[in-house]
Formats: sequence, structure tokens, C-alpha cells
Amino acid sequence: MYATTHPRDYPACSGCSLCRLVCPMWRHRRDPRFSPEGIAKARQNGAGVTELADVLDACTLCGACDPVCPEDIALSDMIMDLRRELELPPDLAVLQVGYEQAAARATPAPAGALLLPGTALRADPPLLAQVAVLLGLRSAEDDGADLAVALEIGGDIELQRKRRFLAAIDGRSLVVGDGLLLRALRRWLPGARLQGLGEALGNLPAIRRRITSADFYVVEARAFHADHARLVAHYDALRKDRGCTMNLDLQRIAMPPRASAYPGLRMGPARDDLEQARWLLQGRRPARIVVEDAAERELLRRVTDVPVLHLAELAALNEELHHA
Ligand code: SF4
Ligand code: SF4
Repeated sequence: MYATTHPRDYPACSGCSLCRLVCPMWRHRRDPRFSPEGIAKARQNGAGVTELADVLDACTLCGACDPVCPEDIALSDMIMDLRRELELPPDLAVLQVGYEQAAARATPAPAGALLLPGTALRADPPLLAQVAVLLGLRSAEDDGADLAVALEIGGDIELQRKRRFLAAIDGRSLVVGDGLLLRALRRWLPGARLQGLGEALGNLPAIRRRITSADFYVVEARAFHADHARLVAHYDALRKDRGCTMNLDLQRIAMPPRASAYPGLRMGPARDDLEQARWLLQGRRPARIVVEDAAERELLRRVTDVPVLHLAELAALNEELHHA
């Protein structure tokens, strides 16, 4: 079993409640148990993982709680570790094996910088091709999508599989489409040159200049919180430069929809991605929505008539205008 280490764990929780301020799970339920503080306090009082199953499932793994905890508890890692102690439903165990077999066929990645697109971007081949061209990057055949799924659903990560994946990408510059995998890679490959997809695309002039003050720009929460201290400056500069609005207001940054793609993950009524997407737009009247994450594009398109574009699609608009 893959094991994580944290700087501090639930015994250090002082009950300050700061994590509730940023937690979309708490906002959605208004129930103190459905918060990082609730989990930490329950563990301090002897609760086992089965008693916490609903809460563990409801967590989006957005990572928003990590940087705010004054006790430096790695809260989302704590939640992922607890998920791994829950028994996986049989359909998810099969899903994980399927990913493992697919990844085992992958050949070692060639030299040079690499794009690790992740499941959501791979599901849209034209968009993936556009992203690869824009960034001038080769897409890795083995992008660790199975590892990202295992992190998400609380599955085990087999050590040999992880070693094989890391050996193929170690020493490369990496642009990573899956925010959860990006966060794990920061821990697995300390010192590696890693960028999230949104940051990499947002720095391209052909894309950046097409972001306007009428846009609502949706930052992908997991990649943002994977390197929060540095990325605050990146997004602040983008917002000032282009005049767009952003989802950087407390819980309303968090909308990772992938967990609900695995319906067997005991999600139940605690999570409602559509409700969360509607809430993200509540009180906002943008002319257009720009997203970093292909999965969030699909989710937002289900709750609004406003055009929702992936960052990479802004460059395509550029070309159309150019050829008009
Ligand atoms: S990872 Fe996000 S949803 Fe989960 S406990 Fe932390 S802030 Fe709440
Ligand atoms: S922010 Fe940290 S110390 Fe404060 S209640 Fe949450 S987990 Fe506990």
C-alpha cells in the first residue's frame, strides 16, 4: 500500500474552525461533521473510518483547507489516507484494475518536456491536440491517469507501478492536467519542474490576450492549492492584467467534479456537482466563462446558457478572427 507522510495529523487540531471558511463541503451541508475540523475532532474522539464514510465521500479533495490550517495539518492528505482505509466497492476495484492494465502497456516516455493530460482532457481528443500544439509538448503515453484515479477513490497504489511511472518522467519538465496528480507529484518528485495546465496555458500570449473583462475565469482548485503561495501571485497578475473576475472567493473556488464520475464512490446525497456549479455562478452575470479544466467545462455547460470555453479554445478563436 502506498503511504503518505504529513507534517502533522488530526491530533494537532485546535478547533479554531478556520478550515470551515474555505471548505465547500461544509458550505454545502452546514453540518460541522462535514468539515476538516469535524473529521479531525471525530478522530480525536475515537471515530473510525466507517463512521466517517459519508464525510470522507463528500470531500471534493479540493485542497482549500490545507493552506489555511494554522496547525499545519495536511488535511486533504489526511482525508485521502482515511479513504484508503475504507473498503472499495467491487465496481471501483474493477475500474482500478482496468486502469492498471492500460498503464502497464505504456512504453517509456521520450526525452524532453511532457504533457500529462489526465482523464478529462484525454476524453476530448481535438482539445487535447490543440493543447499539445499550443504548448509545443508531446503528450505522455503513460500520464498516470490510473494513479490519479486511485488517489481520488482511495485505491491502493502498487509500488512497482508508481516507480515505473516516476522513472519515465523524472528529470522532465511536466505540464500536468490533473490537479490531484499534480499535488502528488510535488511530493513524489520534490524539485521537479511542474506546472498545472491552467498556469501553462494562461501564460501563453495568444491565450492571455483573449481573456477579457467580461469573462468569468474559473481557476481549477486542486492545481491552485497544490502550489497556493506561488499561484496567488500568478492569478492576481492575470486578473489585474485582463480585468476578468475569478472564483477566488473562499469556498467558491472549489468545484472538482471528477469524484462524481465514479458513482460507486459512496457519494450519496452529500455531493451535488451541479448544485456546486450553480453556486459558483450565483450572483454573477459574465458574458463568457473560461475554464482551465475540461471536466469543469462540461459541468458548467449543464447549468448555464453563457458560452463556456476551455482556455485552449481561446487560441482557436484567435485564429478564426485572424482568417476572417
Ligand atoms: S479538501 Fe476541500 S472539500 Fe475536502 S475538507 Fe478540505 S476544503 Fe473541504
Ligand atoms: S484549521 Fe486546522 S486547527 Fe483549525 S479547526 Fe481546521 S483542522 Fe483544526
